[in-house]
Amino acid sequence: MGIQLSSSTKINKKSRHDIKLMRQAGLIVAKVHALMREMAKPGVSTLDLDIAAEALIREEKALPTFKGYHGFPATLCTSINDRVVHGIPCAEDVLKDGDIISVDVGATYQGMVADAALTIPVGKVDEATMRVLQATEEALYASIAQARAGNYLEDVSGAVEDTNLTYNFGLVKEYGGHSVGYKLHEEPFIHNYRTGVRGPMLQAGNTLAIEPMFCMGTDKVITLEDGWTVVTSDGSPSAHFEHTILITEEGDAEILTCLPSGPFRYFPPTKA
Ligand code: MG
Repeated sequence: MGIQLSSSTKINKKSRHDIKLMRQAGLIVAKVHALMREMAKPGVSTLDLDIAAEALIREEKALPTFKGYHGFPATLCTSINDRVVHGIPCAEDVLKDGDIISVDVGATYQGMVADAALTIPVGKVDEATMRVLQATEEALYASIAQARAGNYLEDVSGAVEDTNLTYNFGLVKEYGGHSVGYKLHEEPFIHNYRTGVRGPMLQAGNTLAIEPMFCMGTDKVITLEDGWTVVTSDGSPSAHFEHTILITEEGDAEILTCLPSGPFRYFPPTKA
């Protein structure tokens, strides 16, 4: 989930114990992603996905972070095709061949939160749409590579923008990442583009949810009447990839929302 927060000059640091719990929360989120990739097939509804995700999270003795958050009614945000973020699962939204679905999920384990999203192709998806998925995931990994102790938050944001420029897709600016851990959304907001403000310096113990969103067409988005679902104004498809990461004592980023066995990337770059 990505929302607007005010920018802050500080990012909180988690203790070793906090990080241990966040690793577990991240592992549960990664298990939900793996289950969603298995389940997201033609004929399955977004409500089916939501029920399965909530059951898995509760079996793992965690809580679905999004459920009840500012009144959000579900465990997952499920955003099909032109829906960018914050789609609400329902029985009427049935996946069909050629769809893409962004699944965003948070898990709270013993009070600590991890948050991550991915966009899943359903059946056979056309190449132009697949390129949006690939570009968005590439932007996520480019920004994670900049999430190092001693770098500034603007370096993380800039890597998303730079990747976007090489593809020339719409870059959603209204939503972005955030610090995460004690709460779902901690300050500061992480823009997916340079603002000219370098922001706080990254330090060991910072935990960030980085989440680029790219659209095939316009970057203009609209919120539907349900007050949640964000769609592209031109109806073009949109992708969303997010990981929760930790800045380690060694200074680099550890992805907390991957399975230890991977896969670490779903859409490795294919361009020459
Ligand atoms: Mg988020």
